[in-house]
Amino acid sequence: MTTPPPNPYSGAPVLPNPYAGAHPTQNPYAQPPAPGHPPMPQHQQYAAPYPHPHAQAPAPGCRNCGAPEAANIAVRAHVGVLIMMRFHTLKGPFCRQCGRSLVRTMTTKTLFQGWWSPLSLVVFTPFTLLWNLIASIKFGKLPPSEPAPGRQPLDEGPPVYARPLAYVAIVPLLWATWVVANVIADLTA
Ligand SMILES: [Zn+2]
Repeated sequence: MTTPPPNPYSGAPVLPNPYAGAHPTQNPYAQPPAPGHPPMPQHQQYAAPYPHPHAQAPAPGCRNCGAPEAANIAVRAHVGVLIMMRFHTLKGPFCRQCGRSLVRTMTTKTLFQGWWSPLSLVVFTPFTLLWNLIASIKFGKLPPSEPAPGRQPLDEGPPVYARPLAYVAIVPLLWATWVVANVIADLTA
């Protein structure tokens, strides 16, 4: 026969709950509120400022595969259609192979979908492409990826110029060339 659990209403002694906060109000750091002042939130402005927002932690290796040799730069994509704009940012660090794979994917997406709002055409997509170019150069300078045990770097895939969607960018480039040519023709007429 098993012993039934103690009934707290039976008058039998109840074991103390070891997980209950025994003295929730007994804070050794609490100060009695000063008369005339509302109690201040104690030490709120000093609470856990660590890690310091400006402190540079040592690079922990590739975010994707754990390879120790990694460049701490983000990879971006921009999508702009009429009034809808989206900014995609994948924060590093990434190793050579993962970084180049992401640059290729995100750059192709931007070349395909980045041109279809005015601000995107003039500002955000050129910026995104330039950013990814710089990131690509940084990743290219890294040694070959050595992923952590049990992890796989991303497949680099074909280069951007071998991805058909990238050629959608020809349309806005032709249009921009046409606009510029007309402006020049107007100015020189
Ligand atoms: Zn990697």
